[in-house]
Amino acid sequence: MSDRPTSTVIGVHYAEIALKGKNRSVFQRKLRNNMLHALAGEPVDSVNHVESRYLVRLSDPEAAQRCTEKLARVFGIQWLSAAEAVPRSADHDDDMARLKDAAIAMARRDVGRARDFRIDARRSDHTFPLTSQELNIALGDVVQPALNIGVKLKEPDLCVSVLVLVKDILVYTHKIPGAGGLPAGSSGRLMVLLSGGIDSPVAAWMMMKRGCRPEFVHFYAGRTLKEANVGKIERLATCLAQWSPVPLAVHMVPVYPYEVRAVGVVEDSHDMVLFRRFMVKTAERFALRENCHALVTGDSVGQVASQTLPNLRAISSDVKLPILRPLVGFDKVEITDLSRRTGMFTTSIEPYRDCCSIRSPRPELNAKTADLLQLSEMIDLDEAVSEAIKTSDLLKIGPEGRIEN
Ligand code: ATP
Ligand code: MG
Repeated sequence: MSDRPTSTVIGVHYAEIALKGKNRSVFQRKLRNNMLHALAGEPVDSVNHVESRYLVRLSDPEAAQRCTEKLARVFGIQWLSAAEAVPRSADHDDDMARLKDAAIAMARRDVGRARDFRIDARRSDHTFPLTSQELNIALGDVVQPALNIGVKLKEPDLCVSVLVLVKDILVYTHKIPGAGGLPAGSSGRLMVLLSGGIDSPVAAWMMMKRGCRPEFVHFYAGRTLKEANVGKIERLATCLAQWSPVPLAVHMVPVYPYEVRAVGVVEDSHDMVLFRRFMVKTAERFALRENCHALVTGDSVGQVASQTLPNLRAISSDVKLPILRPLVGFDKVEITDLSRRTGMFTTSIEPYRDCCSIRSPRPELNAKTADLLQLSEMIDLDEAVSEAIKTSDLLKIGPEGRIEN
């Protein structure tokens, strides 16, 4: 008999990392560190890489649900399972006896109103004496009378999964979806233009999912941060911080350096587009200072008048960094759906006086690059950018909200 007792283990499965070649271990190390960070304070005995997956061993089974919820917000994980781990020994018959007990116990615990079930056994260790099919039959034979419900191989109400590893056999009933993507911190830094709307937080989330480390820039109307009442922006950043192993930096930038120069000079038709150029140029300056490789916006082609293709072209002319627009082909229904699923929607629809919402509602649809460059010269947009950066404030936001310096 094994000298190790049955224990609770969370099986952590990754997908995309497995496709990596020589530098796979770099991604794996990042994922492991991020998992340890997410589980800080939890009763975790060990986190080990075992046969192409991670096993998180818990000392308290009661913590399993809380820990899987935390891990579901760690990028790089495809799916998770809270399992009972039956340790293997030199005595196969004894292992089988304990495996049967574990399968029966878990099936009883989770049967609920299930009308049918099946066993789904797989082997990672192919030296195990029984084939997967033989295991299905051996376990089905003892679980069925214990539950007294039917067997159904296709889409049963309850599936008892069994995974044979070299040292343990895992038994679990739920496959919990992970966040997917790549581990945070594996893809470099970005500067995200974060508005108080629905789109840009989703755009940020999508790039975080690709392993990028975001910083944020938000432009506010009003003379001072206090006057602007940017609590909603802090709350949005707090939502995003739930998915990040490190606190998020948010640069809060006043828009009056643009406005005092534009008033009386820039016609209503060009104000919105030139203002966007001011935002992008300011964000780029921050990005270069903070070693970011690209900018990110929540633009989606044609969503509003400032997002026609000619306008997007004119706004970003002479911007040197790439501008990533992860929502470019999404419609509002798809974006809203993602916003809900990532837990940001209720915050995104709180009322907020965004600096874009107070601009002229009828912008030019077909702004010309040359006109925008000329207007930029006329109002000395570069100087507006410098002044805006000088008067900006930096906030640090963690999963619990603003971190005071
Ligand atoms: P969102 O697009 O985030 O829902 P919105 O619809 O109010 O907000 P748009 O008018 O669609 O904003 O602006 C397009 C993009 O410009 C935003 O997704 C965001 O990246 C950027 N942006 C707009 N307003 C601001 C702002 N006040 N501060 C920073 N970036 C902004
Ligand atoms: Mg938008």
